[in-house]
Amino acid sequence: MKAISVLGSTGSIGTQTLELACEFPDRFRVVALTAGNNLDLLLEQILRHAPEAVALADGDMVPQLRERLEALDPARQPARLPELLGGPEGLCAAAAWPSADLVVTGIVGCAGLLPTLAAIRAGKDLALANKETLIAAGPVVLPELAKSGSRLLPADSEHSAIFQCLQGTPWADTARLSTGVPTPGLRRIQLTASGGAFRDWEPADLAKATVADATSHPNWSMGRKITVDSASLMNKGLEVIEAHYLFGLEYDAIEIVIHPQSIIHSMVELADTSVLAQLGWPDMKLPILYCLSWPGRLPTPWRRLDLTEVGSLTFRKPDPAKYPCMELAYAAGRAGGTMPAALNAANEQAVALFLEERIHFLDIPHLIEQVCDRHRADRMDSPSLEDVLDVDGWARRATREAAAALQARLPATLPA
Ligand code: NDP
Repeated sequence: MKAISVLGSTGSIGTQTLELACEFPDRFRVVALTAGNNLDLLLEQILRHAPEAVALADGDMVPQLRERLEALDPARQPARLPELLGGPEGLCAAAAWPSADLVVTGIVGCAGLLPTLAAIRAGKDLALANKETLIAAGPVVLPELAKSGSRLLPADSEHSAIFQCLQGTPWADTARLSTGVPTPGLRRIQLTASGGAFRDWEPADLAKATVADATSHPNWSMGRKITVDSASLMNKGLEVIEAHYLFGLEYDAIEIVIHPQSIIHSMVELADTSVLAQLGWPDMKLPILYCLSWPGRLPTPWRRLDLTEVGSLTFRKPDPAKYPCMELAYAAGRAGGTMPAALNAANEQAVALFLEERIHFLDIPHLIEQVCDRHRADRMDSPSLEDVLDVDGWARRATREAAAALQARLPATLPA
């Protein structure tokens, strides 16, 4: 029985992880949960899974959760109330919870960084969904992994596909997992991209894109931030940086290909030009389950892939003019050091402003570019954790300042 801690249990990754725990009750036991604001769902999850610990991002909400648990009909109360934790220390304690074997990182954004590091420092294996952590702090996370011996299993479907393809190659030597050391025999990675909400839009129409347009993904059901990132292709750009840190390839050897059907989840080319791919329906439960069951596989009754039903698989190159975020991510990855942290924070802040309808969709790359340009002179090669957190905070402020400068066009109340 594997004990799991689920960070971000109320989100898309978190709820799917808990569905898997319900599907395989004799395999997985949930020992810790963390959430942001969704107390209603968290309460249901506590009743269903009876975790040992529960942490809320906002410590001030803990008394409210305690009251709601204590007010439950005694027949519904869990046999033992979980330890209730709050704030950044609480999230880190849940991430490093002693009885957990594996930590699923489903917190969105750089807010996942400190809990992820806490899990690594406690020697836990990780199912990494929270890619922003690795992107912002790769130079900090990789040495910590090497020191602690934690294994970083990719939950992102593309990186899971690469991971699965590489089983059976020298990379199956897990000592190499996520150390940034080039994977022997791996020549090229092709990350597939659905193309997101705007894949069939003309570039000229993107100026009119609304929040509702950008959050309607054609293939995948995910949280709002990553769905907007998919529409701008920033998600794929972030995944390029994630792949660089996970598999140790240079950026020229990591390519993006638009594959509208989302059946091939990514491909690897080996030294002899052989290309391996992993296929499946677009459903995140499969890569999450592979993290949970790795190195084994569990039989499932899920709908099996039928390529005759799919009919055809198509591929095309992404248009850099339509997707400037993709190029910005490559440039930040190549610059390295703290530049990906600046890119990531600027993107998180710009997407938040877009979701609040304070900026236009096309302002997102514009703001990110300005922030990355400003960071160039201050970029650090080998940052400490404090340096990364400083750059993250600075880039968020710089993005808000740059957005405020757009106020002439958008007289809405942008934060000062
Ligand atoms: P969601 O927005 O659906 O869920 C985010 C989770 O994080 C929720 O539990 C939320 O709590 C919690 N949360 C939000 N802000 C904070 C904070 N400041 N501190 C602590 N917890 C917080 O996101 P997704 O599940 O879609 O994505 C999670 C991560 O997984 C992202 O990094 C994303 O890039 C990655 N990912 C997601 C995929 C998907 O299919 N969804 C696919 C591949 C990667 P609450 O809701 O209670 O406020």
